[in-house]
Formats: sequence, structure tokens, C-alpha cells
Amino acid sequence: MTVRTRFAPSPTGLLHIGNARAALFNYLFARHHKGEFLLRIEDTDRERSTQKAVDVILDGLDWLDLKPDAAPVYQSTRQQRHTDVAQELLSRGLAYKCFCTADELKLMREQAVAQGLPPRYNGFWRDRDPSEAPSGAPFSVRLKAPKEGETVIEDLVQGAVRVANAEMDDLIILRSDGSPTYLHAVVCDDHDMEITHVIRGDDHLTNTFRQAMIYRAMGWALPQFAHLPLIHGPDGAKLSKRHGAQSVVDFREAGYLPEALCNYLLRLGWGHGDAEILSREAQIALFDLDGVGRAPSRMDYTKLAHLNGVYLREADPARLTEDVAARLADRSDVIVDDLFRERVLKLMPGLQARAKLLTDLAESAAFLGKKPPLSFDAKAEKLLDAPTQAILRRIADKLAPLSPFDAPTIDAALRAFAEEAGLKLGQVAQPLRAAMTGSLVSPGIDATLAALGRDDVLARIGAATGHG
Ligand code: GLU
Repeated sequence: MTVRTRFAPSPTGLLHIGNARAALFNYLFARHHKGEFLLRIEDTDRERSTQKAVDVILDGLDWLDLKPDAAPVYQSTRQQRHTDVAQELLSRGLAYKCFCTADELKLMREQAVAQGLPPRYNGFWRDRDPSEAPSGAPFSVRLKAPKEGETVIEDLVQGAVRVANAEMDDLIILRSDGSPTYLHAVVCDDHDMEITHVIRGDDHLTNTFRQAMIYRAMGWALPQFAHLPLIHGPDGAKLSKRHGAQSVVDFREAGYLPEALCNYLLRLGWGHGDAEILSREAQIALFDLDGVGRAPSRMDYTKLAHLNGVYLREADPARLTEDVAARLADRSDVIVDDLFRERVLKLMPGLQARAKLLTDLAESAAFLGKKPPLSFDAKAEKLLDAPTQAILRRIADKLAPLSPFDAPTIDAALRAFAEEAGLKLGQVAQPLRAAMTGSLVSPGIDATLAALGRDDVLARIGAATGHG
């Protein structure tokens, strides 16, 4: 049997990282078992399911490199099939028409609550003849759920989970406007798509009992279920906006690399010994549902940023350069052109060694696209007093004739100057940093000057010493 998993998001306008993690687990599980990973867009709420909301999901999966193995299935296109299945259950006597009005249902729920029972339907039309209803009255279709015994799900993460059937009422599969309910549609779709493993958040666990009843009524084999614990914030409360980034787009904008985010999401709630950094190949080779814990995981943004730094240091400089250029493209104080890209690429080894997030990386590269005179931060301003400016002018005289204007030649010249002037290397490098970047932070000063090129280095020294 080919393993077939699916990710089945509802287009809400954002791809929450809890959902992204479900997608990752479905993807890895399918790959590990040499099966297929499918995507179903659950777009039955036509108001919310705009093309834009669907694109958020498609773009998010693309960015995370979790591409499905087939074109997405749109649940809304399958409504006829959902209705047909409901009709079949109706004609086989396994479902029935319920003519209760909204007011009657409300009353029923209130009566149940008054008796200390959960608010639910009392089965009024279960064994009644539809001819008792006023002619033409609208009806919903309800499944005749078993009343005795229990429903047990052998969940691959949670173990055996059970519920007494007496606790569940007859669920609606078709609403009175003829539209299928979500619970019913999912079962029909998972069956028709030949899904073998349903891996999803454990907020769906209670739905699973009801869905199992539909499978059984249709005589369909149940897939295996794996319900993943949810992701909580660092304080243990449900992850929300106040904790920080929570949708895939938020993380992307905050400067995380998709491979770092995937690695982190995998480790959050799944373990394989002490392994922290796992390539996609290793993830596929090692992933199975046995390693998924049952307790909710806590999002640790500090750990994620650290992991991102590790990935950032290994990332391709050309790719990072493009990212930096894109992040700075709208900045009025930075000229993002080919020259800028060239400079960033040249200095990237030094830049990527120090950054944790792509946003830091872009910020640290911005000076390469600025036109002198730069604005100076407080520390740089303080350092650039008259005596320091005099030193800078002397350094400029040493740098002007250098050939080639590359890092080793610059390094040798700065060392020789420091020695000759009786200065420590830092006393040469820091004023230069201030003049080049407007701050006292940059990669190695030799590489920084080489990336800027002679003309710009001299122009920046000139501007910083009042001779611009
Ligand atoms: N569409 C559901 C959601 O976005 C998921 C359904 C499922 O995985 O069965 O929460």
C-alpha cells in the first residue's frame, strides 16, 4: 500500500506555523515511506476563500519547499460528490432527514443543559416518518450515529483514544441549504484521495470520532490518524500575536530562512536523540511518527534565532545577497543597484558570520549602498573628534596609492601605518569603521574597505573629516 498523506488547510488568509508544521510532518512522513504528499484546499467557506487567501498557502508551502506531488484538490469542486454520498446514506437508511427548526434545536439544547447534559440534538426525527413534517419544510440530513458501545481511535501519536457513543448526537452531514458540512466533506475527500494517514493538529481529535462514524456507515476503511500536539507560546499559553511571529509570512519578514524554520518546527515536538541540525535528506531518512511527543510544545524564539544563525552562516552568499537587496529595495537612503550587489557579495562572508536574522544581515549591509556624507550614530560621532580625524587623513594618504586595492594589501598597509604611528590596530580600524559605516560595527576592516573600493573609501574619509 502506498502511503499517501495530505495537508488540508482552510484558506484563512494566513498560514499559521502550527499548520506549517502539520504540512512538514505530512511531507516528511510521505517521503520517508516513499509515498505521496497531497494538498487539499478546504475552500468551502466561499467568502473567506479568496484567491489571495489560497495564494498565501501556496506561496508559504513553496517557500518552505513543501511542494505537493499533485495539483491541489479544491474541496469546493467536490460538492456534488459530498451530496451523493449523503444521499446514499439516506437511501440506505443510515442517515435521515431532520426537519427541526432553529428555534426547536435551541430549545432542545437548553433542555439538555437543564438536565445536566451536554447541549445536543435529541434524535427527534431519527425514527419518525418524514411525512409527519409540513410539506416543503426545509431539512438537514443527519447521520444515524451508533448509540451504544464506544468509538476507539488508535492514534499513532496519542495512543488509543475513546469516547462513549452515547455522548455523541446525530451529526449533520448536509445542511438545510443542501451544502455538505465540513466533517462530512473531509471524510469523502480523504476516502476518494486514498489518504492512508491523516496527520493534523490535535484540535481535530474530537472531529475524528464523528468522522469515524461516517467511514463506518459507508463501509470505508479508516485511514490511520496522528494528532499532533499544538504549539504554545514560551509561557505555555496558546500561541498568539503577543508572543511574536506566528504565521509563515511573519517569520519570513522577520528574517528567518525557510530551512531553519523547518528544522526548528521539526525539532519542536519530534526528537531523534540529540540531533539538532538536520538537512532535509536527514529529516526524510529519520522521520517517523514514533518520535512525536504527546505534550504541547513551547515556541522558543531565542532558540529559533540561534538556529537561524547557524543556517545563515552556511547559506549561499549569492542567495543572501539577493535577499539583502530585496529587503533594502525600498529604502530611500540606500542605492540598490548592481554595484551594491557586487559589494554585498564581496563582503558577504564577513557579514553572514555575524548575523542571526536576514533583517540584521540587511541592516549590516546597508552602508554599502549609502552615499557620503553618512549619518553617524552616537558612538561613531564621539570617536570622530579632531585628533581622530587627523589620523584618518593620514590613513587616507596611505590607502590612496595602494595597488591592488584588496584585503591583504589593505591589511598590510594598515598594520604598517599603526606601527609607524605608534597606534594599536584598533585605533586605526575603529575610526575607519566609523567613517565607512557610520557605526563602530562591521566585518574585518580590510574586507570592508576592499568591498567599498578605493574611490568610495577616500570619499567617505573625506566626508567624515569635513573634507568631503
Ligand atoms: N481544514 C482544516 C484546518 O485548516 C484541517 C482539516 C484536516 O486536516 O482534517 O484546520
